[in-house]
Amino acid sequence: MSERKLHAGDSLFPDMPNVAPKFPTDYNSILNRINSINAVQYAKTRNFINGAVTYLSPYIARDVVSLSFIKEKILQRYSFHQSEKLIQELAWREYFQRIWQYYGDKIFTDVKQKQPDYIHQQIPQALINAQTGIKGIDEGIACLYSNGYMHNHIRMYTAMLTCNVAKSYWQLPSQWMYYYLLDGDIASNTLSWQWVAASFSSKKYYANQENINKYTGTNQLNTYLDTDYDSLRMMDVPTVLQTTTTISLQTNLPTVSAIELDNTLPTFIYNSYNIDPLWHTNEKGNRVLLLEPSHFSKFPISDKVLQFIIQLAKDNIPGIQIFVGEFDALRQQAKAAIHYKEHPSNQHYQGIEESRDWMFPNVKGNFNSFFAYWKKCEKYL
Ligand SMILES: Cc1cc2nc3c(=O)[nH]c(=O)nc-3n(C[C@H](O)[C@H](O)[C@H](O)COP(=O)(O)OP(=O)(O)OC[C@H]3O[C@@H](n4cnc5c(N)ncnc54)[C@H](O)[C@@H]3O)c2cc1C
Repeated sequence: MSERKLHAGDSLFPDMPNVAPKFPTDYNSILNRINSINAVQYAKTRNFINGAVTYLSPYIARDVVSLSFIKEKILQRYSFHQSEKLIQELAWREYFQRIWQYYGDKIFTDVKQKQPDYIHQQIPQALINAQTGIKGIDEGIACLYSNGYMHNHIRMYTAMLTCNVAKSYWQLPSQWMYYYLLDGDIASNTLSWQWVAASFSSKKYYANQENINKYTGTNQLNTYLDTDYDSLRMMDVPTVLQTTTTISLQTNLPTVSAIELDNTLPTFIYNSYNIDPLWHTNEKGNRVLLLEPSHFSKFPISDKVLQFIIQLAKDNIPGIQIFVGEFDALRQQAKAAIHYKEHPSNQHYQGIEESRDWMFPNVKGNFNSFFAYWKKCEKYL
């Protein structure tokens, strides 16, 4: 991972905005990525767009590696003190999953309070065109389109610009971002957008141009964000963000041949949230990547994200077959036991449900805030 020091005026990715980072799909590269985590540097630099972040989210989101596995690997090389910040960030993901488990579909509406001050439910055209005029954000959107990744701070800036400056309702823009993210995770995405927009937090998040310059290495002056925080909160929607649009997102699922199941063997179901190469690895069974049209119609993903999921499955689950159809149709074909991992998106599955590999299996339920949740987790560390 490059450790470029940011200077004012630097571009995010100096030579070509659209080249970094990359996401290989083979397990060894993923393990190498885990083994090269630098927890100390992470804590110091994670907010900078070229900081020592892990780039593991696409693998975590797809359950290729679990948070618990990563946590153990980190603790083999670093003390708790050195790795606390990183483990806390991993815990944010688990927290969002627990909130989803607790609230269910309520996370698709305003969770804690109505989003304050929104004026429409569309999305600024300038956001889609990556032409908001804020270089740090526009380059981040270009990277999202080309690489399926956006740094956490730019996600926050983008959501802030959309919901709090352009005053969009969070839902459509969050679906837009989810569509392009290799790490698209319904809970982290939906609840983070709501956190920024203050429907899952008590106040809206704002960042001004000075803050964006500092963390993205740009040096823009005199933009509409180049102001103090009081003015930012009171500002009218800038002209460049006033044109809004709706978008139609759709998933182009592949056409595949019929699968063949050995009905003397159990069937293990993989999906976009379970591509765990170690799951039942030593057992004989049918292995099926289930792509349900109903799921992808509710939560559309781009061709690039779909290809990434399919490639992860092909590279890491020997003998996997792809089934495009609903669970019920697969069940008609699978005569022996069906195994799957628990996940809020597949509550309609039937068969033998197995637990996910949690970092903090005993900490679940509802929490007033992440820090109330973290306090409970700390007891297990
Ligand atoms: C508006 C918005 C939308 C987001 N949408 C998603 C999403 O769809 N999928 C997703 O995985 N993350 C999402 N995040 C959280 C976070 O931005 C990404 O997890 C992180 O940027 C991934 O990069 P990384 O693996 O290099 O993270 P690192 O900083 O290296 O962190 C390591 C891991 O910890 C977890 N993590 C770190 N920060 C967060 C966080 N703030 N919230 C939840 N988990 C975290 C992730 O699993 C991440 O891979 C979103 C954040 C915001 C503000």
